[in-house]
Amino acid sequence: MDLNKLAQALIPDKDLLPLDEYEKMYPPRNLAKGAEVTRLAPSPTGFIHLGNLYSALADERTAHTTGGIFYLRIEDTDEKRKVDGAVESVIRSLKYFGINFDEGAEISGENAYGPYYQRQRASIYRAFAKDLISRGLAYPCFCTEDELNVIREQQTERKEITGYYGKYARCRNLSEEEIYANLAAGKPYVIRLKSQGNTENKMTFRDAIKGDITVTENDQDVVILKSDGIPTYHFAHAIDDHFMRTTLVIRGEEWLSSLPIHIELFKVLGFPLPKYGHTCSLMKTDNGTKRKLSKRKDPELSLDFYRGAGYYPKAVIKYLMTILNSNFEEWAAKNPSADYTAFKFSVGKMGKSGALFDLDKLNDISRTELSALTEGEMYDFLNGWVTEFGTQADKKHFEDRQYIESILTLIMGTGSKKRRKDIERAEQGVRLIDYFFDDTFTPEYTFRSDSETVKQVLSGYAAVYDVNDDNSAWFAKLKVVASQAGFAAETSEYKANPSAYKGSVADAAEILRVAITGSPNSPDLCTIMKILGKDRSIARLAKAENSL
Ligand code: GLU
Repeated sequence: MDLNKLAQALIPDKDLLPLDEYEKMYPPRNLAKGAEVTRLAPSPTGFIHLGNLYSALADERTAHTTGGIFYLRIEDTDEKRKVDGAVESVIRSLKYFGINFDEGAEISGENAYGPYYQRQRASIYRAFAKDLISRGLAYPCFCTEDELNVIREQQTERKEITGYYGKYARCRNLSEEEIYANLAAGKPYVIRLKSQGNTENKMTFRDAIKGDITVTENDQDVVILKSDGIPTYHFAHAIDDHFMRTTLVIRGEEWLSSLPIHIELFKVLGFPLPKYGHTCSLMKTDNGTKRKLSKRKDPELSLDFYRGAGYYPKAVIKYLMTILNSNFEEWAAKNPSADYTAFKFSVGKMGKSGALFDLDKLNDISRTELSALTEGEMYDFLNGWVTEFGTQADKKHFEDRQYIESILTLIMGTGSKKRRKDIERAEQGVRLIDYFFDDTFTPEYTFRSDSETVKQVLSGYAAVYDVNDDNSAWFAKLKVVASQAGFAAETSEYKANPSAYKGSVADAAEILRVAITGSPNSPDLCTIMKILGKDRSIARLAKAENSL
């Protein structure tokens, strides 16, 4: 058979270049020895998840700790799954977490290895497919969906491996006449690899993450170009990662089973194989059993969840670093003020199997990270969330930076005193300070003392309150008001003779606290009243009294 003629008949495109032109167009990168080129290659489905961030962090750290390049390629070969704005959303989401690309789709700069959208690279794939056909390493397959289903059923019945291979690969040996007759009849076709492999042959493959693994040769005649002329993932992966000069492909372990196909594709295309690192899946414990995080069941899989709930991006990254490299936590404990980028990240130290994702641990890291911020930094962080996700009321409140900062000073604890860790996320932090604003102060008072006593404490304190009192003057007045209302001014007195009192000064303080904050627990009440100011404090005491 004249294979050149066949290749020309199947791929008559006029815009294809001689293959070595592509090598010249995308020359090896001029990088220092040891520099790794990594990439994130998402499909533009609009769903960017924690697994992507986990992978992206490994990619980004690997590239940037070795002086390499981290780029973004969009795998948009499946038109049906494409969502408008998805690329911008990937970039924005990763940027929120401090992960930036050096080049790629929608990234400004030289972008010499583009285009980075696979749909715009059709001619490169087609040029190489044409070459494989002319070398007898690829062929047209005219099998219909129904015919493929019949093959699959037979294989399943016979308990054989499913797929298009060996004796099942019907179109592999079509005669010249049959091929041209099919073409003349206008039958749709795909282009398949004519596999040269044999599954009897096994080899050891060194995965950058999983270590040595045994890989069986491929014998599947996989589709390389679909009937619309667009490449499959397998084919586009080999061509793109070669011409974009990726040195290390970090991708999910679900691709491990396709590795034999990729090894064969690189071989027949004459490209050196890049290194691969297959990341393990993120798991969670659910009712005592470990399972993969699922899009349907686990909102925390979506990155939008973290932004919406106002997670501190660096806390998420630090947490992911603890799952990526098990020695990160110890390093971070030894270097509490160092940025995570100072850590020597290593792909080789990544977990080989199921990484357990634990939201409680993330929350813990988040509280610790946030407690280290200054009031100004905390204001900026909360305000960022408010601007994007807050209510109208939140936005109004955050116009008064000074007021919020005084609240934050109180809530976070000051100076050399150990910082409190009450704020875990922006959303929760913003709700935590709602009671400092009259429009969001909507208390449901629950007093433990009888109404008369509560009234006595509230009106008694309103009569003597002076906003200029320091803590001890404030407390001295409370003792007087408390004892007038039947409480022991000293806790010790109350303990010595509980039946003689309605409670201790602490119970009287609780009455004030509930009236001022709506809750029996709060930071220092004297300071809260100072922040609110005299008029609002007195008004709150009256409001509580009126509710009785
Ligand atoms: N588009 C593939 C995916 O989203 C990329 C896999 C890879 O990184 O090679 O799963």
